[in-house]
Amino acid sequence: MDVPLEDHRAPDHPEFTLPLFADLKKIFKTESGQVFIFPSSGSGGWDAAITNTLSPGDRVLAGRYGQFSHLWAESCRRLGMDVELVEVPWGEGVPLERYAEILAADSAHTIKMVLVTHNETATGVTSDLAAVRRILDDCKHPALLASDGVSAIGSIDFRMDEWGVDLAVSGSQKGLMLPTGLGIVCVSQKALEARKQARCARSYFDFDQMMGANATGYFPYTPAMTLLRGLRAAIDMLLEEGLENVFARHARYGEAVRRAVAAWGLELCARDPKLYSNTVSAILVPAGKDSGQVVKTAYERYDLSLGGGLADVAGKVFRIGHLGDLNEIMILGALAGTEMTLLDCGIEIVPGCGVGAAQAYLRETA
Ligand SMILES: *Cc1c(COP(=O)(O)O)cnc(C)c1O
Repeated sequence: MDVPLEDHRAPDHPEFTLPLFADLKKIFKTESGQVFIFPSSGSGGWDAAITNTLSPGDRVLAGRYGQFSHLWAESCRRLGMDVELVEVPWGEGVPLERYAEILAADSAHTIKMVLVTHNETATGVTSDLAAVRRILDDCKHPALLASDGVSAIGSIDFRMDEWGVDLAVSGSQKGLMLPTGLGIVCVSQKALEARKQARCARSYFDFDQMMGANATGYFPYTPAMTLLRGLRAAIDMLLEEGLENVFARHARYGEAVRRAVAAWGLELCARDPKLYSNTVSAILVPAGKDSGQVVKTAYERYDLSLGGGLADVAGKVFRIGHLGDLNEIMILGALAGTEMTLLDCGIEIVPGCGVGAAQAYLRETA
């Protein structure tokens, strides 16, 4: 990324961008989909997905099971959608049974989009996205399937075409290992068709505008050139390691962190091992303790950035991220810093027990 800003209207620019679009599709595992790269954070991808495919008043089915699924549903509401919101205890995943009932009951097909936050970063929960596809297929429901994969894409298994995902939202700063600044959306042909009837106002995030320019290797406005250079490098790294190996690495690091948590005698926010996220672990502090204090202490004393508890789980959980450009020593360093912090905050753990458990697992599986 450390290159002087390049001319994005240069005659040879498409030689860089066209292969970038083609290779980015491999990360989403799509052949028929179309990728869009916006200069925005991941949240911009939500706006793009909604405004390009829906009309004000359209019904959207959403579950609220963490701060990110909450915010996506809220953004639908602010954009004028009629959101059917299923409340779910935080720590659980997408409510498959409720979705099945609601979709089966909607024989008039008034629901136009179904939202799934594939990896709920606030609670460390990965939902079964493929199961939502099966539910839609079983009741032959034509709603678009939209997935927030900001903390999933490029880190855990995701299959755009095979799972019939219509809109997949991602961002640059999680599995793609870059600074913030790119909102990336992958769109199925079915969702591209839907945009022709969609009446939401759209301008900056307009698919048509972007597709027109992208077809020739250009952008309708100044792209985040430096980040695109970074994206090129990130995609090369992922493809060189091999996506399946990347997923296995994350599974292994996720398990190492979970072994440490168990050794500390603490519990995860995720309620079922089937839901455990391999990219982030949300850890409950014992009753009477404040997870905000843990996060603050880690940052101030050890320069360690843990994730805080968001909204409904504020004060209750802290989070360890384990995605992206990461190796064993980095995981062990984070666990060691977390142990010092827990002790400083009066949370009684045996010093070294979590690090030891993680080391043992990493050595066994080396
Ligand atoms: C980080 C994240 C977002 C928001 O992305 P921003 O880049 O902060 O806008 C959305 N969804 C999930 C699941 C996330 O983890």
